[in-house]
Amino acid sequence: DPVLILDDISHSYHRGLPTQVDVLRGASLEMGPGELIALVAPSGAGKSTLLHVAGLLDRQDSGSVSIKGQDTWNLSDDKRTGIRRDTVGFVYQFHHLLPEFSAVENVVLPQLANAVPERDAIDYARQLLDTVGLGHRYDHRPAELSGGEQQRVAFCRALANRPAILLADEPTGNLDPTTSDQVFDALLTLVRETGLSALIATHNAELAARMDRTVKLEEGVLVSV
Ligand code: ADP
Ligand code: ADP
Repeated sequence: DPVLILDDISHSYHRGLPTQVDVLRGASLEMGPGELIALVAPSGAGKSTLLHVAGLLDRQDSGSVSIKGQDTWNLSDDKRTGIRRDTVGFVYQFHHLLPEFSAVENVVLPQLANAVPERDAIDYARQLLDTVGLGHRYDHRPAELSGGEQQRVAFCRALANRPAILLADEPTGNLDPTTSDQVFDALLTLVRETGLSALIATHNAELAARMDRTVKLEEGVLVSV
C-alpha cells in the first residue's frame, strides 16, 4: 500500500496579493514503501508548497492527502501535528541545527521529546551518524563542522524518530557540486538503510537520475518524466 497519496491537490495564495496565485491545480502522486522519488520544477513552480501540504504543514484548498492509509483532511490540527511528528521527516536547504549542541545531541533531542530513553536515543543517534560517515564528529558543534557535514547531521536529525516519509526541499542546494554529490550519497544511503520513502526536490538532473523515478511539477500538476 502507498505510504503517501496526494489526490488532486489544489492550493492558491491570495492574502496580500493583487491577484490570486494558483500554485497547485490538481497535483496527484502515490508513493510506495521504500520508494525514492525526485521532484523537479523550475523555481517558483510550487515545490515548497507541495512539500508543505504533503507533510501537513499547510492545508490544501481541495483534494486529499493520505498518510499510511489515513485521509488527513478532517483531522484537527493537533491530530495532524501528531501524524506529522510520528511519520514525517523534513530536510531543507539550510540545516537549522541547534548551534549550542553537538552533532549527537542534535539527533538525540527530538527522540527525547518523543519519550525515547536517553541511552537508546544516543545509540540510535550514533548509528545514524555512522551511516553518513560522521562517526568521528559526534561531539562537534555545527560551527565546527563543514557545510556538508552540517547537512548530513540534519539528515540524521530528520530521521531520528524513524519517520516513514522523508520530504526534502533542495537538501544539497547550498553546497558546491563536489560536496553536494557526497552529501547526496549519504542521504541515499540513509534512506535505503532505513527503508524510508522519500520525496526529494532537486534542480540537479544527475541527482534526480539516481532515484527510482522523477516527477515534474508543471503548471500546478505532477507529471512523470
Ligand atoms: P518553489 O518552492 O517551487 O520555489 P513555492 O511553493 O515556494 O515554489 O512558491 C510557489 C509560488 O507561490 C511562488 O510564486 C511564490 O511567490 C508563491 N507563494 C509562496 N508562498 C506564498 C505565500 N505565503 N503567500 C503568497 N504567495 C506565496
Ligand atoms: P570544507 O572543506 O567542507 O569547507 P572545512 O575546511 O570547514 O570543511 O573543515 C574541514 C574539517 O575540519 C571538517 O571536517 C570539520 O569538521 C573540521 N573543522 C572545521 N572547523 C572546526 C573547528 N572549529 N573545530 C573542530 N573541527 C573543525
